Amino acid sequence: MLDPSNERTAWDRDYFFHPSTHMGMHARGETPTRVMAGGEGVYITDVTGRKSLDAFAGLYCVNVGYGRQKIADAIAAQAKDLAYYHAYVGHGTDASITLSKMIIDRAPAGMSKVYFGLSGSDANETNIKLIWYYNNVLGRPEKKKIISRWRGYHGSGVMTGSLTGLHLFHNAFDLPRAPILHTEAPYYFRREDRSMSEEQFSQHCADKLEEMILAEGPDTIAAFIGEPILGTGGIVPPPAGYWEKIQAVLKKYDVLLVADEVVTGFGRLGTMFGSDHYGIKPDLITIAKGLTSAYAPLSGVIVSDKVWQVLVKGSDELGAIGHGWTYAAHPLCSAAGIANLELIDELGLVENAGSTGAYFREQLTQAVGGHANVGDVRGDGMLAAVEFVDDKDDRTFFDPARKIGPQVAAALLERGVIGRAMPQGDILGFAPPLCLTREEADIVVGATEDAIRSVFA
Ligand code: PLP
Repeated sequence: MLDPSNERTAWDRDYFFHPSTHMGMHARGETPTRVMAGGEGVYITDVTGRKSLDAFAGLYCVNVGYGRQKIADAIAAQAKDLAYYHAYVGHGTDASITLSKMIIDRAPAGMSKVYFGLSGSDANETNIKLIWYYNNVLGRPEKKKIISRWRGYHGSGVMTGSLTGLHLFHNAFDLPRAPILHTEAPYYFRREDRSMSEEQFSQHCADKLEEMILAEGPDTIAAFIGEPILGTGGIVPPPAGYWEKIQAVLKKYDVLLVADEVVTGFGRLGTMFGSDHYGIKPDLITIAKGLTSAYAPLSGVIVSDKVWQVLVKGSDELGAIGHGWTYAAHPLCSAAGIANLELIDELGLVENAGSTGAYFREQLTQAVGGHANVGDVRGDGMLAAVEFVDDKDDRTFFDPARKIGPQVAAALLERGVIGRAMPQGDILGFAPPLCLTREEADIVVGATEDAIRSVFA
C-alpha cells in the first residue's frame, strides 16, 4: 500500500505554493514538509501520528486550543441554516450582528462599530482606506501619510506589506510604497546607546517620531500604526512609558492612532485587549486571529465613535461607502467567532493568559536566562521570546547565515515542542494557546533548555 504521507509529500512539492517558504528548497525537497492531521488542546498531530506541543498556537491564533467541539458545532449548525449571505446594503445574519455586539461589549471605551474582513492584512488595508476617506471628508486632502515602525508587522499586501517594517517582506517586491514611513522600533534590548534607561529610550522613540512628523509636515501625517507589543518583529514589550509618550506626540499633531491587535486582541496579554493593558486609546483597532481562534478566517476593524461620526458625514455627502469584500461578516466565520468568545469567557482564558503566561516566563528565565548565549528573555501575558547573542557582555549578534534561531527551533521540534524562529534576528518566540497549563509550560521550558544546550554544545 502506498504510504499516504509519501504520496502527499510528492503532491506537496509538485503543486502547493506555500506562503512564507523558501520556494526552491521546498520544491526540490531540501526542507522538511509536515502534513498536519488533528489536534487536541495544546497538541497537534501529523499524518504519521507524531504529536507536538504547539507553543506558538499555529501562528499565534489558536487561542482556545485545538479540537473545540463547541466551535465545530456552531460552524456546522450555521452551515445547515445558511452558509452564506452577503453583508452589503444593510444585510446581515443573526451571527454577524450578534458578534458585532459581542466585540463592542469587550472593546476599549469609545469604540462604536465593527467592519469585518477575512485576514489581518485586509483589515489593515481597510484601516488605510478609512483613514484617507476620513481626512478627505474633513477637507484635509494632504493629510495622508501613515507612520509605522521598523520591525512592526501589519500584513503582506501591497499597502500592508509596506506598513510592515521587516526587510523580508519588502525585498524584491518594490515595497514599501508611498505614503508609508517607518520610525524607530521600540526595541530596548537593541538600543544603540546602552546607557539609556527604558524611560529615556521611550523618550528617544517619541522624539524621533516628532522629528519625522515635523520634517514631513504635520499637515501631511494622517496616522500612526503599532502593535501594542511588537510581535513578528521579535516579541518585544514596549519600554516603560513608551505608549504614553508616543500618544502625547500624536495628540499634539492630530494624528490618528491605529492599534494593531491582531495578536493581542481577545486575551493574549491577560486583558481582553492590549490597548487596555498598556493604556492605549486608539482611534481604530485591527482584530483577527483570536477573534475566532482561527477556526474560520475572520478579521475586523473596530472603529471609534470619533472616526465613525466623520465616516457617516462622508456617506451623507458621497453616498454608500465604496469598500467591501464578498465574504465580509461571513456567517460561518461569525458563528465561529461567537462560540470562540463564549469559550474564552467560560474557560477563563484571559485570566489564564495572564497568570500562566507569567509563570511560563519566570520558569523560562530561570532555566535559560543565565546561558552564555541568551541575551534576553522577555514577553508579556502569553507571549515570550528568547534572544540569542554571540557575546553577552558586548551584546554582539550572530552572523544570520549561521541560522542560530532556526537551529534552536528545529532542536526544540525534535523534542516535541513547536516554537517559532522569528525573522530578523536569532529569536525563539512562544505564543502558546491561552489554555496552556503550568504542567504544559514546564514541558515547553524543559525542552527549550535542552534544545539550547544541544545547539550550543
Ligand atoms: N497584524 C499583525 C500584528 C499580525 O501579527 C499579522 C499576522 O501575523 C497581521 C496583521 C496579518 O494578518 P494575516 O496574516 O491574517 O493577514
